[in-house]
Amino acid sequence: MSKKEKIAVYPGSFDPPTLGHLDVIKRALEIFDRIIVLVSDSKNKNYMFSKEERSKMIKEMVKDIKEVSVESLPGLLVDYLKKNKIRTVIRGLRITSDFDYEFQMSSFNRVLYPNIETIYIISDIKYTLLSSSLVRELILNKGDISKFVPPEVEKFIKNRGER
Ligand code: ADP
Repeated sequence: MSKKEKIAVYPGSFDPPTLGHLDVIKRALEIFDRIIVLVSDSKNKNYMFSKEERSKMIKEMVKDIKEVSVESLPGLLVDYLKKNKIRTVIRGLRITSDFDYEFQMSSFNRVLYPNIETIYIISDIKYTLLSSSLVRELILNKGDISKFVPPEVEKFIKNRGER
């Protein structure tokens, strides 16, 4: 009997992707056979990087991890999950401040799609204060981002600045 492949999606803004996101992906792969990173676009948010740029940076970041694919989320997460018959969602948890928002999102999504299960991954302690918004702040102020993003992402951002 063949074992069913365990698939989960990891939705987020990834504006830009950081070492924290990468850590969550790697930890999730200890549990799941395949992870689909879903790049979302919320009308309520002003992004520094376009959806295409964010997808490209993640693809570069995970290019050596064959179990990870990157897709763009066209609309609501629950609609994607229903359409693709996937029920497991990965999210990352940092210090307590993430909890309220994540609890609200997960509960809200469950009203729309009762089968949904959200799994929270706590990243390594060295990434627990790291966020995309801090990296954006550094980029805007020409600070050094090399300790916070993978080298592929740093390179992408550098090249973009030089254009
Ligand atoms: P969103 O706008 O959907 O919150 P983000 O890209 O900010 O998108 O985050 C995507 C997910 O990754 C969220 O669950 C967030 O809590 C998690 N995450 C982001 N940075 C880290 C980190 N340093 N450690 C653990 N989880 C993180």
